[in-house]
Amino acid sequence: MSGCVTVAGLGPGDPDLTAPAVVRALAEAEDLVGYIPYVARVPDKKGQRRHASDNRVELDRAQHALTLAEEGRKVCLVSSGDPGVFAMAAAVFEALESGPDAWRALKITVLPGISAMQAAAARLGAPLGHDFCALSLSDNLKPWETVEKRLRAAAGAGFVLSLYNPASKARPWQLGRALEILRAALPDTTPVIFATAVTDGREHIDIETLATADPARADMRTLVMIGTAETRLIPRPDGQPWVYTPRRASAA
Ligand code: SAH
Repeated sequence: MSGCVTVAGLGPGDPDLTAPAVVRALAEAEDLVGYIPYVARVPDKKGQRRHASDNRVELDRAQHALTLAEEGRKVCLVSSGDPGVFAMAAAVFEALESGPDAWRALKITVLPGISAMQAAAARLGAPLGHDFCALSLSDNLKPWETVEKRLRAAAGAGFVLSLYNPASKARPWQLGRALEILRAALPDTTPVIFATAVTDGREHIDIETLATADPARADMRTLVMIGTAETRLIPRPDGQPWVYTPRRASAA
């Protein structure tokens, strides 16, 4: 069986931030599989088949990639950012676990990418300089009560929070509720950063506080970062302040 699946992370948007190993895997693939806007980010290559699908069909997409590989095709399955962060790598292993035994003999490779929180952090300075955690605000794959419980626990434990999937047309109220929960747990002055479309040409970054943060500011392309009581701002004469979280933390 010569087919294979490479699960590759394209990074946050700028092609310069895609790893060379991913660029090579994309060029070598016979079949490209992924969510429509992600497949669109890959330059066309003659003879390569492209299978772009809509959002929310991750498991079907993973099964499709594995089926193509079983037929002997060299498949590249693309994700934005890192494929292991709220993306396709876990869907592939979910499909593998419940799929036909033959799939377990396939060569599967996961190639990492720069995740949205890393790209946003680099723009801001070093907000993730100390302990942090990443949470998806989407309640498509977990109950909303679980999101609330994890938000309270993470804020209470003093982590900087990277909130993925903060809002979409189908999920308009979740970020507002999340901010309410965080206001009850953290000082009003805690930095809240809205980092939208980082590195992809339409980038926009707003630095607010918990007191001023407007949930309407976020959309599907926004990563929301919540600082801790230790996160600091350094004003600059031009442009937005640097944001960093010192590597030393006081007693919890
Ligand atoms: N695997 C991706 C995350 C997919 S979940 C990664 O590692 O980055 C989709 C969410 O990621 C979006 O709702 C948004 O919160 C975030 N995101 C993806 N690309 C982004 C970008 N360029 N700028 C800001 N946030 C981004």
